[in-house]
Amino acid sequence: MRSPKTATFVFLATLLLLVIPSTTLADSGTYRATVQAVISLTPFCTPGPSNSNCAGARWLNTMNGSAQPVRGVTVELRLDSTGALIGTGVTDSSGTVSIPWSTPTVGPATMSWNLRRADGRFHVKTKSGADIVYWNPTPTLSNGATTNNGTLIWGNGAHVNVYFATERAWTDAFSSSSLLWDRFTGVTVKVGDYSNSSYTGGKTVQISDLHTGSFDIIVHELGHIASDLASGGFSSCSDYGWGGMPGHSLRSPEWQCAGFEEGIATGIGSRTLYWQTAVQPMMFGENLEAPASAPCSITNSNRWELRSATFWRDFYDSVVDGADSSLTSYAAVFDVLDAFGGGHDNHDKNEPYNTALLIGLDDKDGRSAEDFRWVAVNQIGLPSVWLDAIYAQSCSPVGD
Ligand SMILES: [Zn+2]
Repeated sequence: MRSPKTATFVFLATLLLLVIPSTTLADSGTYRATVQAVISLTPFCTPGPSNSNCAGARWLNTMNGSAQPVRGVTVELRLDSTGALIGTGVTDSSGTVSIPWSTPTVGPATMSWNLRRADGRFHVKTKSGADIVYWNPTPTLSNGATTNNGTLIWGNGAHVNVYFATERAWTDAFSSSSLLWDRFTGVTVKVGDYSNSSYTGGKTVQISDLHTGSFDIIVHELGHIASDLASGGFSSCSDYGWGGMPGHSLRSPEWQCAGFEEGIATGIGSRTLYWQTAVQPMMFGENLEAPASAPCSITNSNRWELRSATFWRDFYDSVVDGADSSLTSYAAVFDVLDAFGGGHDNHDKNEPYNTALLIGLDDKDGRSAEDFRWVAVNQIGLPSVWLDAIYAQSCSPVGD
């Protein structure tokens, strides 16, 4: 029988045999770089007495057209000779990445990254689903040392704009909801020659080439996904034909099943550009905080998407205006959407039947801001006095 000592010696000797050859044969070191891209997105806020009030604005004229950090992407380091992957790292909030690398014999190498957030929350791709890859040759990697590549700035590009807007939507808006922390994963944002930008259900948004510079359109479409994920999915509301008028805008009257979703997409998307402290959050040229130029007396304006959008701003903002005493948080919007019942009854998330079998019974004003108010009071326990006040302040959108 072996003594414990012998056993230890044999074990150590084996370890040394394993360790020595690998450390003596491999080259290794660290590669560092800061990844940036020039971002051009409108609208941006321009501070000044005769212009917008930019308190709470997250995207200013001074930032637009400048180099911004590319956050949360995986950077790969590969040898040019063989294509072998020798190290990876993830960019931080400054776009900086530090990559430990190791390879038997180091030589010329290239760093590359694509528009996928490393934590898997979202991925920006082409229309056909291909990755968009950015790359740059590295300086000579020095064995046993850190090679600093400095700041690498890519020029403005449609896809990197969309990545930037999506990353901001996640970091500056959606990530404050613990519910979305669990559900906003694996989202795909496709960019291509679509005739329009849209969300058609599931976890994919389509951004048209026409809109890759439109911050408000991109975050509106992402607002649709966030709403759908919070609601746990629901029958789509595709009838925009109220009053025989197809199409929609913030000031077009709509069936409220559709008007509700459009308003909430704009209302929750707007936090990306304007935090809850903003007194003049501008989306699609409209101030969601105080649409003073649009009094409630305008015929059918209680069917406008704008009314729902202003209702949600007042629901989560911290600006005290009129009857809005700022009682809850942005995350609570998603908690209320989650609290809708799962059925087809009044106040349920599928209240409008939206089935071809039940056209006569379809209540296209069914799922509405009014239901949101009801659920917020009866399922979440928010004060009805406050909800009634901000609802009235938004011209009491149609609903039942
Ligand atoms: Zn929409």
